[in-house]
Order: sequence, then structure tokens, then C-alpha cells
Amino acid sequence: MTSSLPAADAEARRALAWTHTARFLTTAAQLNQLPATELPEIAFVGRSNAGKSTAINVLTQQKRLAFASKTPGRTQHINLFALGPKDAPDALFADLPGYGYAAVARGAKLRWQKVMADYLELRRSLSGVVLMVDSRLGFTELDRQLLAFVAPRVGTGAVKLLVLLTKADKLNRRESDAALAEAQRVLADLATDDSDVGVSLFSALSRRGVTDAAQWLHAGSRPVLPDTVADVDVAEADAGSPGEGPSEPAPGASPAASGQPPGRTSGD
Ligand code: GDP
Repeated sequence: MTSSLPAADAEARRALAWTHTARFLTTAAQLNQLPATELPEIAFVGRSNAGKSTAINVLTQQKRLAFASKTPGRTQHINLFALGPKDAPDALFADLPGYGYAAVARGAKLRWQKVMADYLELRRSLSGVVLMVDSRLGFTELDRQLLAFVAPRVGTGAVKLLVLLTKADKLNRRESDAALAEAQRVLADLATDDSDVGVSLFSALSRRGVTDAAQWLHAGSRPVLPDTVADVDVAEADAGSPGEGPSEPAPGASPAASGQPPGRTSGD
């Protein structure tokens, strides 16, 4: 299914070499502690236990990178990683706190909502969001809330969205197909002519989807998606609806956001 053309191989290798450059940059308890930057920033989000840390570690081919985010005192923080040449980083990954952990007190949950909402709505350099969803559970209520936070910016194409359906090794073929179809159905609500929304089955164990996700990340500002990351169909063409949500046009602040081709409907 995946193309094994030499050019595609070379591109995949470049993408994985690039994700491998990820290194810890800084940690922040709240939005205003994050460094102001013009670098495109891709946020990793998901409920606790969705497989986010494992996915980041596999994508960056580093055993412990994202587990830095799980050390005491950092679990509720936004952890930033820099990518690209050491002296000239070209992108950042932001590992956001996992949410939905049952034992968390109400106050902490509300705080989570505020941090997430602020980050997703206001972080100017945000160019992409990777949402990890356990493929066996599908979207939970909190996942849908998170999608709602970021929907305005996804709708305008300012922020790209990739949903990884994690732990896909636990599903058989029929279940995988059903999980993918259900996710596409939910995500169709977010799709507009300008949006760039993808969804892919993912497994750190079998490495399913790893290369494609690395290529999606590496693509950064380049408007190409790897073959097996399925585009989500545009349901109702409703090209970005201004007037709702916080207005944060981020003039020139999101290099990865411009130049999206319109109408990226799924071709297969
Ligand atoms: P996080 O809380 O979202 O960062 O989740 P973790 O990365 O810590 O993973 C939660 C649990 O799921 C751990 O026990 C992992 O070993 C397991 N897990 C993560 N990814 C996979 C996967 O691809 N396949 C399987 N079978 N288990 C996984």
C-alpha cells in the first residue's frame, strides 16, 4: 500500500532524520511563560494514556524524550522541543499535558481547560496539532472539547490537524476500518475548503503510520500529505467563518500557515 519508490524512501528518511533532531528546549506552566517565537510550532495533545509520550518517542527515535514531560512537577506543563540544526532550529514541538485522568480534582481539570483553550486559541506560532486518540476508544468528550477549541483556526487553514489513532496493533482489520471511518466522520465537521485535516492509524509497537506521521510533521509549511494519511472530506464548503471565537489573525507569525492550497478533498 505504501509507496516504496526510492524518492519516497529518501523523503521518509529525511523526515525521520529531522524528527530525530528533537531536543528539550524549555518547560512552561502557563502560556505567558512560553518563549515568543516565529518558528512553526506543532502541538501534541491527547488524553492521559492515549499513547502520546510513546508516540513522540517513537517519532523522534528517542527513548526518553517525552517522558521528561511525565517527571514530577512537569506533568501539567507545556514542554517545548526544538528541531532542526542546533544553531538554527526550524520548528518546535510542544508536548501539552495529557487530560482526562479520572483521579484529577475538579480544580485541576478546570485549569487544564483554561491552559488548553488559551494555548490552542492564542499561541500565535501554532501551525499544527497532532491529536492522539486511542483507536479502541475513539473521541472522548474531552477530545471533542479540544477540537472545538482549535476548530476556528483549523477552519481557516492557519493550523493543520493530524489525528493519530493510537495502539492500532490492538485492532483487527475490521475494527481498524471502523475506527478510521468513525474518526473521519467526526472530523468532517471541521473540514472546510481551507482546512488541512488528516487522520491515520498509528502504532508505536508495529510502527504502523510512524513514517507517514514523521513526513506530515516534516512537511511543515509544505502542503503535501503522505499517501496513507487520509484526508478528511470537506463536508460543507464553508470557507472559514470569521466573527466567532477569539480573533488572533497572527499576521506573519505563522510561516507554516500560509500558502495552503484550497480544496484538498480526498482523492481516493
Ligand atoms: P500518554 O499518557 O498519552 O503519554 O501514554 P503513554 O505513551 O504513556 O502510553 C500509555 C500506555 O499505552 C503505556 O502502557 C504504553 O506502553 C501503551 N502504548 C503506547 N503506545 C502503544 C502502542 O502503539 N501499542 C500498544 N499495544 N500499546 C501502546
